[in-house]
Amino acid sequence: MTSYSISDLENRLQPSPCMPVMFVGHGNPMNAISDNAYTHTWLKVGSELPDAQAIVVISAHWLTPGRTHITDAPTNPVIYDFGGFPDELFHVTYESHGDTAVARELAKALVEYEAELDKQWGLDHGTWSILKFLAPEPEVPVLQISIDYSMPLPQLYTLYSRLRALRSKGVLFIGSGNIVHALGRVRWEGGEAWDWAAQFDADTAVALRERRVADLVNPYDIWREARLAVPTDDHYRPMIAALSLLDDDEDIRFFNSSIDMGSISMRSFISI
Ligand code: ZN
Repeated sequence: MTSYSISDLENRLQPSPCMPVMFVGHGNPMNAISDNAYTHTWLKVGSELPDAQAIVVISAHWLTPGRTHITDAPTNPVIYDFGGFPDELFHVTYESHGDTAVARELAKALVEYEAELDKQWGLDHGTWSILKFLAPEPEVPVLQISIDYSMPLPQLYTLYSRLRALRSKGVLFIGSGNIVHALGRVRWEGGEAWDWAAQFDADTAVALRERRVADLVNPYDIWREARLAVPTDDHYRPMIAALSLLDDDEDIRFFNSSIDMGSISMRSFISI
């Protein structure tokens, strides 16, 4: 069994200027092997990021109802958590490592939620499909935090906000999902956005700019289009996580603000 000294655990993350927080619409897993407008933007945004001490992703593809998990493994296996895609996508690699000291620091910030360290999970495609572009060869630890899929959104917002202080200890937090994610209405051959998808995307963008948190954590009560645009909220939750990590007076900049395949909003944001 590996042992860690107290100083290892306490000093791994050093005080730093406040790191940005991002929400990234990841969309189609094929983006991971695509050369398109979305991936170009990811490359550009990634190249402009300050140096982090750790990258922590909250992905729509790690749902743990009733609990919150944090990855804790020396190296991160790449998880191919999809089916029906070309072989090439199952051969994508992404080399990264974890860090027990960082995992424990995250768990400490979430102690009231009894967050558990998890040695089984690696990086799911919500994480590696975007990090391939945002952080192609990470030298710092990469970790994931799962999403309690049964926790109501207002409480989920509070949970992730407990991590905010770690932005000033070099942690780059990224929520990875999609604000509009209606797979049942996807136009696989491309085409115009559905009206309700465009409307919900636009309305939530205004709410994000105006930081109307109470509206954003109650989408079904606020927007008529929410039932169609967010039929299940698994991909919406990472946006709430990123929102919760913003400081109260912090502005955001949108990127990739378009709808893909009719019903997937790629809208993303980064704090400025
Ligand atoms: Zn997804």
